Amino acid sequence: MIIDNLMVIIKNGIPPELAPLDIDPKQAFLMLKYLAQLMVVDADLSPKEISYFLLAGRLLGFNNEILNKLWKSARSLLEKDFPQAIVETTNLTTKVSLTKVDETGVTFRLGKALMPKVKIMLYVLKNVHSQLPLKGNEEHWDPLSCTMEKQHQVKFDEGTYLVRAHFEQRLFEDHGIMQIMHPENYAVVSDGGFFDTEKDSLLGSFLNCYVCDNPHIKFYVLHSKSMITDPNIFGIPSFVRSAGQLKFCDFNLIQVASCNKCGFSSNDKEHFKRQKTSESTFSVEEFSKGWEEKIAPLLKKAQDIGDTFYGEERDIQQGILSYDFAIATFEQMASIASNDKMKGTTARKKASMLMTQAELLMESKNRDAAEANLKKTTDTLEPIFESLEGVQLLHTCVLLFQIKIYLNDLQSAGQYMKFLDNYDTDGKLIEGTEEFKELKVSSAKLKATFDDRAILTKEAMTHFHLDDE
Ligand SMILES: [Zn+2]
Repeated sequence: MIIDNLMVIIKNGIPPELAPLDIDPKQAFLMLKYLAQLMVVDADLSPKEISYFLLAGRLLGFNNEILNKLWKSARSLLEKDFPQAIVETTNLTTKVSLTKVDETGVTFRLGKALMPKVKIMLYVLKNVHSQLPLKGNEEHWDPLSCTMEKQHQVKFDEGTYLVRAHFEQRLFEDHGIMQIMHPENYAVVSDGGFFDTEKDSLLGSFLNCYVCDNPHIKFYVLHSKSMITDPNIFGIPSFVRSAGQLKFCDFNLIQVASCNKCGFSSNDKEHFKRQKTSESTFSVEEFSKGWEEKIAPLLKKAQDIGDTFYGEERDIQQGILSYDFAIATFEQMASIASNDKMKGTTARKKASMLMTQAELLMESKNRDAAEANLKKTTDTLEPIFESLEGVQLLHTCVLLFQIKIYLNDLQSAGQYMKFLDNYDTDGKLIEGTEEFKELKVSSAKLKATFDDRAILTKEAMTHFHLDDE
């Protein structure tokens, strides 16, 4: 109760009636220390709170020097848990805490003012608290070029500025920003723990199956930037060789994790239970209806192969089989999807599995099956095309266009081209948004495909890659 009352006072910054107090200095100091800690329990420190702290401190008989030290050390404690980065300008290199991170830029505190519009290189530090055993010796992510957008002096802290830096380049995974904004996409922490992998380029964790509760599904994550990839004409990567010291892994073969009991399979760790408290994003009860019969023939095949199918050493045929599992899983999910958004998401997942499987089929000289997958992809995506929105819609539009060009279906291709041309004719999209940027990228890709249409057809190509060597 006392804490609640205190919090109300602190957070609202409405001081109760206070008169100078005559308290034992040692007790008074402890009180202040606790107050400083209380200020930051909500991971935020506002000028109102600092102002109240200074007032209380003076009433307790402390001078400004001590008070400033106290609230600043509380602030350091708070910022220690914020993402860290190194900022670099021509005159300065220093470590900062990022107090705000979004898709357009970052905010941090600096001990000096910067020139307006000055160029800043930002190196986001890899998370030291991360439970991932970091391989290699990389302390930070790739540099990200920014400019100083605005700054203002920090209240009660003379000579210190809060700086807003705006990103000047397209964000990629290797900048480390997305990991801060969407940590849930990158964490592989699970109750089941990690297991040792043969290849040091992989990280393996045990996940739990939502459908049958099997706790031992092996899920692999590839260390970022560890492989050189070559995207095919549809943007599906093929894994060429190791980018450095870590052992080569054709991740296309093992990205689909499969439950050896019920056959549920996905390359998305969100589809598995990672922690006791995790909840499935789909209805397990609905999913289970008819699933056993549907998956039985595939499960038989996998069980004939044995443990190899569930490990990191799948050969290309086993890799191809793993996509049959994932495709069946997403079909089942799509059949129970309760709204357009879920339908769209699962259809796109299924399409992505079909397209990666097509790449593997083509490379294993099974051209007919590979091209049949392209057709299945359009059959999957066209019915839901109209219900998609924003970035997803743009991605899908380009993919469908590329497939139509490959299959010589120029009439349909033309429709997707027209769709993109008319996407924002009245200029409603706001510059700088993801959708705006994606429209530019998608239009450029579509135009490049259109310009090269003569060499991107199935007659002209020997596989899904343009061979320039
Ligand atoms: Zn299962």
